Amino acid sequence: MEKADDTMEMKFYLPDWEDRLDPDFDFANDEYSEGHKENPYTYDMYAHQLFDTPLCDGILVSLSIFRSKISLNKEETSYSIRDCRNIKDFLRIPGDSTLRVMGDCGAFGYVKEIEPPKPFYSVENVVNLYEKLGFDFGVSVDHLVVDYVLTKNIRNGKREKRVMSIDEKRKRIQLTLKNAEEFLRLHKKEKCDFIPVGVAQGYDQDTYRRSVRNLTRMGYEYIGMGGLVQYSSEFILHVLRSINSLIKGKDVHLFGTVRPDYLRDFESLGATSFDSASFLRKAWLRDGQNYLAPNGKWYSAIRVPQSSNSRLMRTARLNDFSLDDLRRMELDSLEALIDYDQTESDLDHVLDVVLRYDGLLLRSTKHGNLRKNYRKTLLDMPWKHCKCDICRKIGIHVIIFRGSNRNKRRGFHNIWILNRLKNDI
Ligand SMILES: [Zn+2]
Repeated sequence: MEKADDTMEMKFYLPDWEDRLDPDFDFANDEYSEGHKENPYTYDMYAHQLFDTPLCDGILVSLSIFRSKISLNKEETSYSIRDCRNIKDFLRIPGDSTLRVMGDCGAFGYVKEIEPPKPFYSVENVVNLYEKLGFDFGVSVDHLVVDYVLTKNIRNGKREKRVMSIDEKRKRIQLTLKNAEEFLRLHKKEKCDFIPVGVAQGYDQDTYRRSVRNLTRMGYEYIGMGGLVQYSSEFILHVLRSINSLIKGKDVHLFGTVRPDYLRDFESLGATSFDSASFLRKAWLRDGQNYLAPNGKWYSAIRVPQSSNSRLMRTARLNDFSLDDLRRMELDSLEALIDYDQTESDLDHVLDVVLRYDGLLLRSTKHGNLRKNYRKTLLDMPWKHCKCDICRKIGIHVIIFRGSNRNKRRGFHNIWILNRLKNDI
């Protein structure tokens, strides 16, 4: 169906793992604020509180992550998550916000089990949780279909691959559908307010198609495509093509998939929402793609490890460096970077100082590559071209790979950029 205009309408949900940070962290002195020191839980902020313009359309909350924080009151009439009766209070989403909250079970949390563990993941309990905690969307209780799971060998403690048989895959698909049916039945019976999302599991075009057909026959208006994270974008396109005639006029969510180059195709084939935390987590992974610039290019963040790092201290001792030497090298690195940001001083000198210190960590990454990547980051200064609240406020600190206050801010910046790129695609 042709749309009236060409704007991207797919909604982006950011999965939440309680990624909060100190809003007043003192970068110059590398110190937490007084407010954080008094009570980090109440003082620290979520990503969506740190930006003036939205960085996503909604938040995805997986019950498996918050399981230990959810409790039932004595009369068994209401739930609370920490001390909040409503998920939006917990996430500090104001009443007039357009941010939506979707709940799912977080099926990866129990992927090794034969079925979703009861009583927590019983369909009845999950429906109750979504409704009583005030979710906007609730996803049915599913069981992941994967090629193998990693289990621990009891005798030698080693992790082993357990291949999932076709028979087990089929059972999981059936269980997911049975749960979806019960989920919708209870949703109607209890006259719930949240919008139900039925999950389709599968392992090829045919099985996904059959799951989607079953869900639409049950009456679902919102279908969640589970387990796609393990597949190529081409596979996802094939699956979407095969279900295209079944999902006309309905909403379709792609779980755990972010493929910026394919979003337009996914949308034209009927997908209406997706979620992913991968751009957040890339900020602190060791792949040289830590900072996403407004033009869509990735940059390496520059590592200045904390001198209290135990691996660093061990290597330093072996090489006759004292703790004072370490601390001085750490401060020199930070100073060199901050000075470069302000005066664009001698780039090779900055690289020498930073890499000499970082070299004590004896990383597997070749130093030649690091030097090349860091040079690119420092020459282009991408943080100076970013208009997000974080880059404008903390400047070069966003690109320094060090501690969660810098690393998570870089991740939040990446999400803000992803949301912008999504809207501009
Ligand atoms: Zn930014």
